[in-house]
Amino acid sequence: MEIMDGKELAKKIRTNLKEEVEILKSKGIYPKLAVIMVGNDKASAVYVKNKSKACNEVGVTYEEFLLKEDTTMDELLGLIQKLNQDTDIDGILLQSPIPKSLDIEEAFRTIDPKKDVDGFHPVNVGKLSLNQDCFVSCTPYGIIKMLETYHIPIEGVHAVIIGRSNIVGKPLIQCLLNKNATVTICHSKTENLEEVTKQADILIAAIGKPEFVTANMVKTGATVIDVGINRKEDGKLVGDVNFEEVSKKASYITPVPGGVGPMTVAMLMTNVVKAAKNRK
Ligand code: NAD
Repeated sequence: MEIMDGKELAKKIRTNLKEEVEILKSKGIYPKLAVIMVGNDKASAVYVKNKSKACNEVGVTYEEFLLKEDTTMDELLGLIQKLNQDTDIDGILLQSPIPKSLDIEEAFRTIDPKKDVDGFHPVNVGKLSLNQDCFVSCTPYGIIKMLETYHIPIEGVHAVIIGRSNIVGKPLIQCLLNKNATVTICHSKTENLEEVTKQADILIAAIGKPEFVTANMVKTGATVIDVGINRKEDGKLVGDVNFEEVSKKASYITPVPGGVGPMTVAMLMTNVVKAAKNRK
């Protein structure tokens, strides 16, 4: 069994991007990311901090816009439109969740698709499904990058995803399909889940339930990718996979922390640099 070291791989990606950014800067191109956060979600504050740290390391200029919990939709859309027009800004990221009184889908739709470095705009989602050049949602993008780096075959194999969210599960279907995998997607209404997951050559868990995937759900020799980030009652951070059990059966597995999480941020940096190159 080999542990897929997302932390180390993400570091390498950032180092390469730093060199690329230096070249861009020598040509007068200064990549810049704008991050909007609405309200005081604690987990979001941690994610945003990680993104700002990565920007700093790669040499991307970072600007944060902190909006109050009672921000109106007009105010939020006004800010997005202002950032769309700002020629200094290459990427715009709206950190989710935002307060329930606001329509996040409308906010995502308002971001200029050319600055949509999270790949959530319907134009980018549509282009991904047509296998056209676009901004790919960062978590699925990072998962593909990890599989490729570890030379894990994707073409022709059976990939099973658990979880159908718009940010992970659904775009991952397209990413795997574009690489010629046979893809099955499971969710909370799937019957006989274990029967399906046991067929997976590549099993990806994006559920949000601590240590949900147990050894009996996994085929011997499978590659297991754990997207989940869950805090247990004792404060310990765990994924959606029971690492201790499953690692004994899998041939490759991602740890939590240090697996998919750092890769997601590294791919965000990749997208910001791409946006800067595309635009200027
Ligand atoms: P979500 O919370 O929007 O949806 C969860 C999905 O799991 C749903 O599609 C649901 O149908 C499925 N599900 C729930 N219970 C199930 C069950 N019993 N059997 C089968 N399927 C079930 O999902 P999300 O936003 O993709 O987040 C999933 C997890 O991944 C969370 O822990 C989140 O924190 C984490 N996450 C991590 C990263 C990262 O960078 N590592 C990025 C995004 C999300």
